[in-house]
Amino acid sequence: MNVSGNILLKKGREQSVLRKHPWVFSGALQQLTSSGQDGNWVKVCDSKGLTLGFGHYQNGSIAVRMLSFGEEQPADTFWKDKINRALTLRHAVGLPSEKTNAFRLIHGEGDGLPGLIIDFYAGVAVIQAHSAGMHNDREQIAQALKVAMGEQLSAIYYKSRATLPGKIKEDQPDGYLLGMGVVPHVIHEHGNKFLVDWESGQKTGFFLDQRENRKLLGDFSKGKNVLNTFCYTGGFSVYALKADASLVHSVDASEKAIDITRKNIELNGYDPQQHECTAIDTFEFLKNKQGVYDLIVLDPPAFAKHRDARHQAVKGYQRLNAEAMKVIRPGGIIFTFSCSQVVDKQLFYDTVTSAAIQAEREVKVLHLLSQPSDHPVSMNHPEGEYLKGLVLYVV
Ligand code: SAH
Repeated sequence: MNVSGNILLKKGREQSVLRKHPWVFSGALQQLTSSGQDGNWVKVCDSKGLTLGFGHYQNGSIAVRMLSFGEEQPADTFWKDKINRALTLRHAVGLPSEKTNAFRLIHGEGDGLPGLIIDFYAGVAVIQAHSAGMHNDREQIAQALKVAMGEQLSAIYYKSRATLPGKIKEDQPDGYLLGMGVVPHVIHEHGNKFLVDWESGQKTGFFLDQRENRKLLGDFSKGKNVLNTFCYTGGFSVYALKADASLVHSVDASEKAIDITRKNIELNGYDPQQHECTAIDTFEFLKNKQGVYDLIVLDPPAFAKHRDARHQAVKGYQRLNAEAMKVIRPGGIIFTFSCSQVVDKQLFYDTVTSAAIQAEREVKVLHLLSQPSDHPVSMNHPEGEYLKGLVLYVV
């Protein structure tokens, strides 16, 4: 590992690094001795010069993303070791399996690799870098991935234009680092089939984080009229149809997503008569839908990406949940989610409570939901828990 800088922390600011929290904020820095280039590996020391660990430097609020702790400099096998560890965890939770061949292989801080996401779609890995350091190291990461996964891997697609900071993204087109994939590509999730297009789809192509929540929806769907809002490519809709819902309506603002939803319904062999999809804004769609649905899914995109947008986001969640509560049939079920990292569990819960008050409906909480085990949360980095969900019974 080519370490090209030294960082000295202010006195007392070593505490969070000693607790293995992976973020060193710029305010903790006393001195930076190197060219201070974004993406470089740096050694992080306490105020007396004692080595605490190593990480990627980047000029910004988070100045260093820690990649290893302790005195020892990361070995040449660093990337391979990290990927193998992540694979071991996935195997421990039964992934991949006969029925599921798509999973998240690297979940940033949860796998000790802040700034890096790798999703695996039945033979194709999609790498998404969120930091200059991960971008710099992309070829090494791809090589290590190839070695760790061997024949299971046929292609690696690098997709970071939308996630890299500042100017770096301008010099980096998205593209293949290994092999070539053909999109859309079919993956299996709990025996359901889905088309994934990492080249032009949202994020890395599919929302793997809702896998277990989609499965749970099946338990509530039999004989029900289901509305899946913010449906993207119809994930929840396919599970509802599999569980014999009476009818399923899928809604998304994106025409492209709706088009793939339609194809996914066909791919799984369901009768298009049982399913209707509409490209429309959810708030528009919910108008005049009083008493039509027994089960509604609300899975909007992150309403707040930054702390300063939190207040607006809370208002958005409140309005959305209140609208759904107003229209749902008595005895209906709502699956409601937030993936905004800055809106924590408690705030989301409180916001949904105020929506219930606003809608003047009596609401009971049946389940508290989160992200699946291939999106692990490190206990040293509780901020990694980003997906929150509630299953509600609306009296
Ligand atoms: N539940 C989906 C993932 C949802 S991602 C799954 O299981 O795969 C959020 C989706 O919301 C995106 O597809 C985006 O196009 C859509 N979206 C964003 N704003 C919207 C709006 N105002 N109305 C409807 N859909 C919207």
